[in-house]
Amino acid sequence: MKQKIPCFCDNTFTVEIPDEIDLDANPAYIDEIINGAFLNFTCPSCGKKHKPEFDLTILWPSKNIRFEIFQELGRGEFYRRKKEVLEKGPMKKETIISFPELSERILVYRDGLEPAAVEAIKYYLYVKAEENYPEEELDIWYAESRDPEGPLEFHIHGIKKDEVAVMKVPRSLYQKTLDDYRKHPKSEIFESLRVRSYLSVKNMMRPEELK
Ligand SMILES: [Zn+2]
Repeated sequence: MKQKIPCFCDNTFTVEIPDEIDLDANPAYIDEIINGAFLNFTCPSCGKKHKPEFDLTILWPSKNIRFEIFQELGRGEFYRRKKEVLEKGPMKKETIISFPELSERILVYRDGLEPAAVEAIKYYLYVKAEENYPEEELDIWYAESRDPEGPLEFHIHGIKKDEVAVMKVPRSLYQKTLDDYRKHPKSEIFESLRVRSYLSVKNMMRPEELK
């Protein structure tokens, strides 16, 4: 599909966005999504870099997943049930809201982790961070775990301006959370992390009017 991108310099330029991306057929997209270079465009008139978000579908057949991605602006509509993509095909549908969440989720799968366990750990980290920094607006993301046996790394944004705090979570805590999830996938914590096909700690933190 063609999309128009308006620039601050008053130029509007048109870009071509694939309607559907298959990560197995185009594995270069995996790195681009993780490092934030995915669908970046440069204004031909002034050279400014744009990172627009679009609603799109990404397939990952080897993981049996179909991501339905909504832009951040569509978050409210998703909760009000105005935004939903119907089931099509056998791959498991996962809703993702915003490109940063897409990038994080791709990283979670690439590292062979279970998103429900990772989101549950993020919830524990939010609870703890909010006790320690009640005044700050915090944002917590799974970063990576270079050593597949070692700790999982999370980044906390917002404790200090322009600084990212690194939080290492022992692999044993991840394993325990994963075991809990496998034994009791419908327990309260895991149910609260999910709204229909959207799994995210943000479901637990959304404002009252979106519940
Ligand atoms: Zn421009």
